[in-house]
Amino acid sequence: MTGTIDNQAGVHQQGSGVEAGDAIPVNPQDPEEKVNILLVDDRPDKLMAVETIIAELGQNVVKARSGQEALRHLLQTDFAVILLDVNMPGLDGFETAALIRQRKKSEHTPIIFLTAISDTETHVSRGYSLGAVDYILAPVLPDVLRTKVSVFVELHKKNQQIRSLNEQLQKRITQLTETNQALEAFTYSIAHDLRAPLRAMLGFSRALLEDYGAKLDASGQEFANRIVSSAKRMDDLIQDLLSYSRLSREQIKLGPVKLEAALDDVLKQCELQVREKEAEIRVETLLFEVWAHKGVLVQMLVNLLSNSLKFVATGVKPSVRIWAEEGDGWVRLSIRDNGIGIASEHHQRIFRVFERLHSTEQYPGTGIGLANVSKAAERMGGRVGVESQPDQGSRFWVELPKAPRL
Ligand code: ADP
Repeated sequence: MTGTIDNQAGVHQQGSGVEAGDAIPVNPQDPEEKVNILLVDDRPDKLMAVETIIAELGQNVVKARSGQEALRHLLQTDFAVILLDVNMPGLDGFETAALIRQRKKSEHTPIIFLTAISDTETHVSRGYSLGAVDYILAPVLPDVLRTKVSVFVELHKKNQQIRSLNEQLQKRITQLTETNQALEAFTYSIAHDLRAPLRAMLGFSRALLEDYGAKLDASGQEFANRIVSSAKRMDDLIQDLLSYSRLSREQIKLGPVKLEAALDDVLKQCELQVREKEAEIRVETLLFEVWAHKGVLVQMLVNLLSNSLKFVATGVKPSVRIWAEEGDGWVRLSIRDNGIGIASEHHQRIFRVFERLHSTEQYPGTGIGLANVSKAAERMGGRVGVESQPDQGSRFWVELPKAPRL
């Protein structure tokens, strides 16, 4: 048992060693970085007065003497907030705001209108319809102006941070996906290439036993037999790993699959094992259609059923019950056995590659079957789970989306 679990640890270490994302550190925007504020007023004295008030905020202030000049600035620069005088010759504040909103780059830039109290009645509703976020009434109260502007400065900084974090996360995801694909392709080709020399080993050691067995003494024969069985086991492991890798990489096309038909195939594939073990299999209520890939579903159920037939105490005849029930949008298929059961602390890890709870002498296997089951469920948009206690048998379940009614 420990041997295989040690293997698992090795695989994990390898996996975590290839943290591709490490190459890109996540650096949120510097909160001290200055943002831009645009002041628009035709009167230089008013521009200067407002500038003096907000200078304390320590940000970049850009001044424009007309709506046109403001629009030119907006073409080149990103602003946290625009302070816009309503009464200006030429383009007035509202006309300028309408043009600002038409541009993609500034369609959401907050605008605070500066207007005289006497004009508020008529201005307020028009301003809000143009997407104004606030009004500052003249005469301007410095504290009020500073507080209002600082809220938008903070908001802008937070938005910039979120945007830059998002970009970096996106880069990480792309890099991780690429690394994952490369790693999977690498595993696949390694596993594939390993099989050729292994087959030669297996073939020659078998030939050695057949052709020269008589010349070997008992120990010699024992050694040759061990080479055969080790090579065979390694071949099983590689084959199972290849099927796991294939299941992870290959496109699978989903469609409606009748559970009953899938289970017929499963029972045919397990026929020999059922007969050898003199197992009793009861199949109930399977009149459901799931959204799946038939071949993948059959393979996954073969894995579960053969485990139910395999993991029984010595001398016990396997008795397995298979049934399905439906919920809102999903169908759950359960396979209940009278086997040796599994302690709850192992319920999660048995679904990982190479996790086994017994030695191969006790129960043969590679420890990849349930990892394949879990991967298959994931690829088909479903879930798997187990309910079990030692000596109480196990119930493995698979939940899959129900096929839509046409
Ligand atoms: P393998 O069958 O090759 O050992 P699996 O990935 O299918 O690998 O299963 C992992 C481990 O989970 C098994 O080694 C066994 O310890 C446990 N297990 C799986 N199915 C059952 C079951 N029906 N009853 C008891 N134990 C089980």
